Amino acid sequence: MIRRRRTVRFATHNVTLVRAATESLDLWCEACGATVAMVTPGRAAEILMTNPRAIYRRVEEGDVHFVEADRGEVLICSESLRADTAG
Ligand SMILES: [Zn+2]
Repeated sequence: MIRRRRTVRFATHNVTLVRAATESLDLWCEACGATVAMVTPGRAAEILMTNPRAIYRRVEEGDVHFVEADRGEVLICSESLRADTAG
């Protein structure tokens, strides 16, 4: 009999807490491995001085970290935005 102890560390997606009115939320970012401020695409666009469409494109390209809320909304990791502004 083989007993395996597997420690599965899964980030719990408590994104149900996300409210539309909130522009920034502290959530766990798997890519960062830390709790970071997640912002709406609209806010992310403001930060990068661009438009939300460009943000969605970055999301699709995997350029930024993001989490998906239950309503299909995405929240962008502000840390990954910051890392990107240099370009
Ligand atoms: Zn991140």
